[in-house]
Amino acid sequence: MFDKILIANRGEIALRVIRACREMGIASVAVHSTADSDAMHVRMADESICIGPAAASASYLSVPAIMAACEISGAQAIHPGYGFLSENANFVQIVEDHGLTFIGPTAEHIRIMGDKITAKDTMRKLGVPCVPGSEGGVATLKEAQRIGDEIGYPVIIKATAGGGGKGMKVAQSAADMASAFQNARSEAKAVFGNDEVYIEKYLGAPRHIEIQMFGDGRGGAIHLGERDCSLQRRHQKVFEEAPGPAISTEERARIGKICADAIAKIKYIGAGTIEFLYEDGEFYFIEMNTRLQVEHPITEAIYGVDLVREQIRVAAGLPMSLAQDDLHINGHAIEVRINAERLPNFAPCPGRITQYHAPGGLGVRMDSALYDGYTIPPYYDSLIGKLIVHGRDRTEALARLRRALGELIVDGVDTTVPLFHALLQEPDVQSGDYNIHWLEHWLETNL
Ligand code: ADP
Repeated sequence: MFDKILIANRGEIALRVIRACREMGIASVAVHSTADSDAMHVRMADESICIGPAAASASYLSVPAIMAACEISGAQAIHPGYGFLSENANFVQIVEDHGLTFIGPTAEHIRIMGDKITAKDTMRKLGVPCVPGSEGGVATLKEAQRIGDEIGYPVIIKATAGGGGKGMKVAQSAADMASAFQNARSEAKAVFGNDEVYIEKYLGAPRHIEIQMFGDGRGGAIHLGERDCSLQRRHQKVFEEAPGPAISTEERARIGKICADAIAKIKYIGAGTIEFLYEDGEFYFIEMNTRLQVEHPITEAIYGVDLVREQIRVAAGLPMSLAQDDLHINGHAIEVRINAERLPNFAPCPGRITQYHAPGGLGVRMDSALYDGYTIPPYYDSLIGKLIVHGRDRTEALARLRRALGELIVDGVDTTVPLFHALLQEPDVQSGDYNIHWLEHWLETNL
């Protein structure tokens, strides 16, 4: 087992990893920008190293700075968290070339899954059901129009290098194709520096269902059921639950096995998530994320596992401590993402926290790096906390969420907490009857 792990991240996810390290008796090294000298992850880690100025490009994304911090601290492994360098295959290669361990999949698997066309192609060959669409990249408008006519409108044009809901445009009909195609390409170029796009059938009212996977890197793999992340704003998740209210035990077992077999075949190592759109009883693969996800705690809650601990174990060459037959769902869990944002426009709202009080009690987990007097810097993303509740069933989880949100105090900045109070009043949220468009429609009429 490692003696020391460096965490190449900040905020709540850095704390999440530090906590796992501490329980495993492993020393932790925090890295931070000059803007984060007072951050909680710096205070909580065993050691900390400043790696550069506020801009993420010069600190949390600076490979030389992070490699130097490893060298100085003597850390043997790097946990990337999510975001930043977590899905950067070149970084993984450099880490390995320096004789250090990257806690995550191989550079090759990250590369395959990071290119959405290659990912889809790979998954299709592994027997995973995919959204119908173009065979690969679509280079010309003429080709796009031909594919649109072939698969039938509406279609969605997506960036091969996409992520975070960027570079996606819907063409409702042939008349929209020219502008949607050009807009998707220019957004892809601007955001990802790569204007390659592909085309998929646009599903009208699907749910976003993702399967949590875990591989041991030697051909063993398990699944830990699904999360329903359909409540989204601008293709970004805001409320997630597990198990999915629309997924039956049989469906879970079927799609779970397909996914586990697929990643076992490629000898995938560590945590991964296979994302699907789900409509009329069918699953359609959209992408695979080769890292721990923001919403992983709801899976941890219902299965009673520590996914970060498992990541560290397999990275150190140990077997998984989980077997498929031992995994049983216990109750229901919900996560809400608390962002420092001002409603109704969700404008980022950094600033000083004058008072912070985390909710507690049975079945409540608050993953947050906030503290009284902390100043949220304006340079990074606006997620300031994840409130995760666990109940014996969905009704209890919803009641617990309402209760916990009522206890939470975040003064000094605006947050998305009022949104969740309002959503919990909605009959569709109470019954679990929503799809990927539900929240956008609701926001249009209610905010
Ligand atoms: P990203 O990597 O940018 O998050 P995804 O491919 O995971 O992109 O898609 C994000 C979201 O966009 C999905 O959860 C869904 O809401 C929407 N979406 C993506 N593909 C389709 C599609 N073929 N039909 C309808 N909605 C889609």
